[in-house]
Amino acid sequence: MKYGTRILHNENELDPYTGALSIPIYQASTYHQHDVDHPGKYEYSRSGNPTREALEKTLAALENGTHAYAFSSGMAATSSSLAILEQGDHVVATADIYGGSYRILTRFFSKFGITTTFVDMTRLENIEAAIRPNSRLLFLESPSNPLLKITDIKEATGIARKHGLITMIDNTFMSPYFQRPLDLGVDIVIHSATKFLGGHSDVIGGAVITKSDSLASRIYFVQNGFGAILGPQDCWLLLRGIKTLKARMELQQQSATEIAQWLKKQSWVSDVYYPGLSDHPGHEIIKSQATGFGAVLSFKTLTVERARQIMKEVKVWSVAVSLGGVESILSYPVKMSHAAIPPLDRERLGITDNLIRLSVGLEDASDLIEDLGPNH
Ligand SMILES: *Cc1c(COP(=O)(O)O)cnc(C)c1O
Repeated sequence: MKYGTRILHNENELDPYTGALSIPIYQASTYHQHDVDHPGKYEYSRSGNPTREALEKTLAALENGTHAYAFSSGMAATSSSLAILEQGDHVVATADIYGGSYRILTRFFSKFGITTTFVDMTRLENIEAAIRPNSRLLFLESPSNPLLKITDIKEATGIARKHGLITMIDNTFMSPYFQRPLDLGVDIVIHSATKFLGGHSDVIGGAVITKSDSLASRIYFVQNGFGAILGPQDCWLLLRGIKTLKARMELQQQSATEIAQWLKKQSWVSDVYYPGLSDHPGHEIIKSQATGFGAVLSFKTLTVERARQIMKEVKVWSVAVSLGGVESILSYPVKMSHAAIPPLDRERLGITDNLIRLSVGLEDASDLIEDLGPNH
């Protein structure tokens, strides 16, 4: 069965009790035990809930994994995965990682003696150089946020395996529709399901997927123990959003490509970052490891004033945090996603005051283009 069909037919799409084509929202916290010596499959909804289970099995199927866990946010998914580490462990993470991941590593896990080295993973030798005897985890994000840098996932995973590190990737930007990192050797895939998986800017959620039984049981222990689970209503919203994943990703990518090509030609634009452009430094690598380039791109205006003017005057684009929805969103990384990164580090990473990130939705591309210029 082709991937687009599997999004809709993966053996989790029907309610087993009624045959309904939409999994019911099992809004239940607890379940009657007919026999206390042999509790049923469901005991208490922190440990398991049928709506969440349908979502988790769907997520596992979409990432070609065997186990998936749904969390109350992308950050809950990331933090709960990092919580499988031990005191004193060392993490090697990509330099322009999501701001919230940077914050939780440097200001929360650091309290438990877990240290992190951030490296530019577009150069694989940086990974090897950062690995220490106590390194346990390689944390990738490709394409990275907000500059869309590409890491060679297979090569990076190979280096990690050679040194006995677990590999984890934030696959939010690509969604499983375009990139399935477990197939490339990655051990743990995480998502902010808030973004492309949900797709409608109406739910906060996260996901962790693996095909390792031992990692799965460690992650489930944290999910059940910490308890940052996703509620049944939100699980249902994600199940519903996922049904249109293919259509959204294809159309949004098509418009993103058009917008990137148009931006390239504008005299008031100094740089365009979109891995689908043939002159993007990671273009060949992403072509080898993903089936598309996604719908997020960034650009720099020649002047900071121009960037600010665009944000003030756009009518079709929303100026907001977040991405991956059917509505196009323009965001300002220095004040939004990357505000948690100290200004000097931000500058060093190229996250400057003239940088705008675009998440392209389902509006007509010509309207989106007109809204960005030429009147500005
Ligand atoms: C939004 C986002 C997160 C955090 O997810 P939440 O659902 O907001 O907690 C993590 N990684 C990336 C790449 C994101 O875009």
